Amino acid sequence: MNDQTIIECQALTRDYQMGEVTVQALRGLNLEVCQGELLVLLGPSGSGKTTTVNLIGGLDRPTSGRVIVDGEDIGRYSDTRLTDYRRRKLGFVFQLFNLIPSLTAVENVEFALALGDQHGNGNGIWDNAMEMLTLVGLEARADHFPAQLSGGEQQRVAIARALANRPPILLCDEPTGNLDVDTGRQVLGVLRDFNRRDGVTVMLITHNQAIAPMADRVIRLSAGEVVSVSVNETPASVSELDW
Ligand code: ADP
Ligand code: MG
Repeated sequence: MNDQTIIECQALTRDYQMGEVTVQALRGLNLEVCQGELLVLLGPSGSGKTTTVNLIGGLDRPTSGRVIVDGEDIGRYSDTRLTDYRRRKLGFVFQLFNLIPSLTAVENVEFALALGDQHGNGNGIWDNAMEMLTLVGLEARADHFPAQLSGGEQQRVAIARALANRPPILLCDEPTGNLDVDTGRQVLGVLRDFNRRDGVTVMLITHNQAIAPMADRVIRLSAGEVVSVSVNETPASVSELDW
C-alpha cells in the first residue's frame, strides 16, 4: 500500500452457499484504489463486481481476506461502526436510482442531509440540497417528483443525494445500466466533475467496455479474480466515449 491508497482489497473471497452448491463469487481478489482517482472496475455479468463493491461498501462481509480503507481493516468493525463508516466515508449510486417516490428531487437530497451529522456549512438543509442539485444541473427540476424526471435526471438526483454529505468516496454500481447513450454520458459527466473538481474518489462498476477510456485506471475482473490493471495516461472526455 502506498500513501495514496484509500481502499485496498487483500485476497478477498466470497462464497455463496446455494443448497449443496458453493458459488465462489470472488476467488482471492486483490486491488487498490488510489485517493482521488476515477477507477473503472470492468467485467462481464457474473464476474463479481457487485460482490466486490458490496464488500468495500460494508454491506456484506467476506468469506476470507480483508478490505482496508484509510488504513483500517473494516472487517474488524462492529455493525454499528460499519454503519458509521458507510455514513461518513461513502456515497452509493445504483443502477435503479432508488429515489423516494413520494419526495421531490430537492426533498430526496434534503432527506440524505438530515440523516448526515454535518449539515454542511451553516447554511440550511434546503440551501445545501439546492447547491447539490445545481452541481448536477437540476436546480430547475428541484420540485419535480421522481416519476416526473427522466432516467438520467433521476440518476443525477441520486448522485446529488449520494454526495450531499460530502463523503470522500463514491461507489457506483452500473450507474448507466438503465440509461441510453446520451443521458448515460450526462451522468458520467457529473461523476467526472465531482472527481476532478472536488477530488471525490470514484469507483465506477460496469460491464460496458465503452466507459473504460474515461477512467484513470481500469481493473478488469473475470470469474472473481482481477485479470488486468491498466492506466490511461490521458483519460478520454465523456464526449469522446462511443457506445
Ligand atoms: P456482477 O456484478 O459482476 O454481475 P456478482 O458479484 O453479482 O457479479 O455475482 C458474482 C457471482 O456470484 C455470480 O455467479 C452470481 O450468480 C453469484 N451470486 C451473487 N450474489 C449471490 C447470492 N446472493 N447468492 C448466490 N449467488 C450469488
Ligand atoms: Mg452486478
